[in-house]
Amino acid sequence: MKMESANKPIEKVLTVKDLHTFFYTRKGVVKAVDGVSFSVEKKEIVGLVGESGCGKSITSLSIMRLVPQPAGRIVSGEIIFQGEDLQKKTDEQMRLIRGDRLSMILQDPMVALNQLLTVGYQIGEVLKYHGKGNGSFREKCIHLLEKVKVPSPERRIDDYPFQFSGGMCQRVLISVGIANNPDLLIADEPTTALDVTIRAQILNLMREIQQESNTAIILITHDLATVAQICTRVLVMYAGRIVEQAPVKTFYKNPSHPYTVGLIRSVPVLGRRIDRLYSLGGSPPNLLHPPPGCRFAPRCSKAMPVCHEQYPPEVTIADNHQVSCWLYIKD
Ligand code: SF4
Repeated sequence: MKMESANKPIEKVLTVKDLHTFFYTRKGVVKAVDGVSFSVEKKEIVGLVGESGCGKSITSLSIMRLVPQPAGRIVSGEIIFQGEDLQKKTDEQMRLIRGDRLSMILQDPMVALNQLLTVGYQIGEVLKYHGKGNGSFREKCIHLLEKVKVPSPERRIDDYPFQFSGGMCQRVLISVGIANNPDLLIADEPTTALDVTIRAQILNLMREIQQESNTAIILITHDLATVAQICTRVLVMYAGRIVEQAPVKTFYKNPSHPYTVGLIRSVPVLGRRIDRLYSLGGSPPNLLHPPPGCRFAPRCSKAMPVCHEQYPPEVTIADNHQVSCWLYIKD
């Protein structure tokens, strides 16, 4: 087992092993998640990045066991959450885990919250369902709204979501997500719908929550600025697979997979003058018919013949830094 310091083992909150989640459509099988493996340690904030449609959200829905039915299905793989295989849980057992030890914040709070119920009712429901209110759930709801910095929580607890701004609604949604002190919180693009100032506030809030409660966080995003701001480690997904994983500093200093290099080069840097912003050519493959070999090969300027024939195995190129690319495989 990996050791944190002298004799202290690093605790893994989540281990995903060789996960395959497919969608069975009339046109064929869409391999949305096709052999994904990673783990999340206690107190980590892991960024899951990649272009739209690369499988980030389906990976998180698979962990939550909320893959859209009936087309979607986890075909194989293991999802070990705090030592328990979630694949072996019944639906009822999963309902008791979700919203309690394992929680998720969705992208659009205006859609995720019910507009016809007060925010206090919606936070209280999560507490009551998991038996955490003990008759004092109103006080606990007020405390949660305070924690996510909603002003005048004693008054606002009785307001409806449509009476809040987008940023305040996202805070309410976060309070629902953290109501039962989850061990793992999955946040799917939690700041996408917000302006830059509110986005920074929400990210700071998430970092505070992680530090206070030791909750591990998986942050799904396509925004590399968000990753730089709060993540400790980064997983890069492309076409249903993880192509690179690295600590956040390594990710920016020494990106190694050509796709990661392209992603980073396409972000403008304050103070650096350039004539034209780099853009990754082409588009991700159709996952109904992914190319054989490396899925990035049709867009990769460094592709070699082997890249078009065989998918590269994952190799460790430095401490905690893995990449799947033939450029790093020595004969
Ligand atoms: Fe490019 Fe080949 Fe590496 Fe794929 S395996 S990223 S095609 S060099």
